[in-house]
Amino acid sequence: MQITKIEEHIHLIDLKPNGIENFVASYVLLGENAAIVESGPALTAQKLLLSLKKLGVKPEDVTYVAVSHIHLDHGGGVGILLKHLPKASLIVHQRGGIHTANPQSLWTASKKALGRLAQMYGKPEPVAQERIIVGTDGMVLDIGNNVKLRVVETLGHASHHLTYYETLSQGIFTGDAAGIYLNKHNVVVPTSPAPFHLDIALASLRKLINLKSKFLYYSHFGKAENSVEKLQAYGEQLKLWAKIAARGIEKGENLEAIRKKIIETDSALQKTGEFIRSHPILNKTVLLQSIEGIVRYVEKTGYSDHLA
Ligand SMILES: [Zn+2]
Repeated sequence: MQITKIEEHIHLIDLKPNGIENFVASYVLLGENAAIVESGPALTAQKLLLSLKKLGVKPEDVTYVAVSHIHLDHGGGVGILLKHLPKASLIVHQRGGIHTANPQSLWTASKKALGRLAQMYGKPEPVAQERIIVGTDGMVLDIGNNVKLRVVETLGHASHHLTYYETLSQGIFTGDAAGIYLNKHNVVVPTSPAPFHLDIALASLRKLINLKSKFLYYSHFGKAENSVEKLQAYGEQLKLWAKIAARGIEKGENLEAIRKKIIETDSALQKTGEFIRSHPILNKTVLLQSIEGIVRYVEKTGYSDHLA
């Protein structure tokens, strides 16, 4: 892994699952105590523990492990982490909490949805019920020395999604609510696998825009400036995809034809050249699953709503 100091009190850890860099991030916040935002996958949990050691954080100093949602790349490692962090509580959305306590059905569903990617992230271990704190909108996690996280419920990508606003740096830990930031291309692309809820995701984006934050700390991947512009552009991109999907469905086109049209039309995708197509994870998650998630949403909600 690689540790990068991105603020005086925030370190970014590149967890590099299966050696893939610049893709899955975890963040360590240092106040009077310490907190982790995003456990990352189960198979990289040991790397994260080693990063804490390198940063001089004692296991008993960590009071919170806050996850955006329970998908394997964001919350899969929390069971292992908590075994080594005796004073830490897990912060998770209520609908995610039950699956962290008993991850068997999550693991079965993940294997089905992700295939070999699930094996690459690893099987989650359970978290003891008494160590789970349900994160609710507006809740503040105090890490001391003025370092605080405010929970913002941001559903849409998942029905169990939270983001965290860090008040000192005025930055948002976005999880998957603001898309995937390809930092080398300065481009954001959708993460909208089924069952994606566009209307709810857009409402969540408006909530984040209203925070007028200075920075975004993406789980995929890293710190970005021009926060409000990026959030707005992401909303427009999702609407564009839905509109293309609606036109395609109206004409009776199949998923493949709609996919082709989205890839040809979306200027952000165009800017990345062959990068996404040749990426070991993004090809499947963005070009296959995210596009399919939007198409399914449009089919379900009635395409005519999206044509305007
Ligand atoms: Zn993700």
